[in-house]
Amino acid sequence: MEIFRTVAELRQWARNSRHAGHAIGLVPTMGALHAGHASLIRAARGSCGLVAVSIFVNPTQFGPNEDYNRYPRSFEADCALAKAEGAAVVFAPTVEELYPAGAATFVEVEGLSNRLDGASRPGHFRGVATVVAKLLIAAEADRAFFGQKDAAQVAVLRRMAADLRLEAEIVVCPIVREPDGLALSSRNLYLSPEERTRALALSRMIRQVEALAATGERRASALIEAARRIFAAEPAIRIDYIEVVNWATLEPVETAAPGTLFAVAAWVGATRLIDNTILA
Ligand code: AMP
Repeated sequence: MEIFRTVAELRQWARNSRHAGHAIGLVPTMGALHAGHASLIRAARGSCGLVAVSIFVNPTQFGPNEDYNRYPRSFEADCALAKAEGAAVVFAPTVEELYPAGAATFVEVEGLSNRLDGASRPGHFRGVATVVAKLLIAAEADRAFFGQKDAAQVAVLRRMAADLRLEAEIVVCPIVREPDGLALSSRNLYLSPEERTRALALSRMIRQVEALAATGERRASALIEAARRIFAAEPAIRIDYIEVVNWATLEPVETAAPGTLFAVAAWVGATRLIDNTILA
């Protein structure tokens, strides 16, 4: 497995690889890799001849009071995981490499960027769309793999890829969970053992909402109310949002239909966690 630090190296490799007839799969990550990331690399391996994993803690998607500086970094272990899963390349640029001095170009997906996580984290999706556009272009990716875990991000990136007429297909992979239901996240590392137990309220709520929807309940208000009741029993958890939205537009819907996104974000102590389900 090769490790590239510059866009020029990645681009040269991508050119040669495509010339040799390989499809390129890209898995963008911020590192601190876990089984959720591994599932994306496996999915990419399954449909692309060569897979590049990017590891870059992207400063432009963090707000001024967010966890950019303390975000977990574990480069050696990440490379070992990427290699074990069959990645051909790890791309780990510096901040200066992706944002050269004087960089003034950003990708703004209007409307969608201000919804869900974008509403509570102003500028977050602008940073995400900008860095993913840079990565997709540099890697000449045929397909890029993302987790449904970040469902609003998927909506933003699909819109961006369509609007910019990017070649890459955006592929979405299922949420990988711990055996007890907690969605894997690099930020789970922040949780104390007690918070880790409390955090299970999120996945419990997702299961409850799925069960309620399976009984035929379609009213968004009823699904949200059921979710709020679960959190009411957990005063240590602070809800950021509970939303029932069209997954493509992130606009709220009154009545859920197949493919509707039910999404939640909540603070467990100082850690903000997200979870969601696509209603059947
Ligand atoms: P991150 O490193 O947190 O920026 O995540 C990189 C990619 O991994 C994103 O597409 C995430 O949606 C995806 N991902 C993170 N956690 C999970 C998970 N539990 N299951 C599936 N994909 C995930």
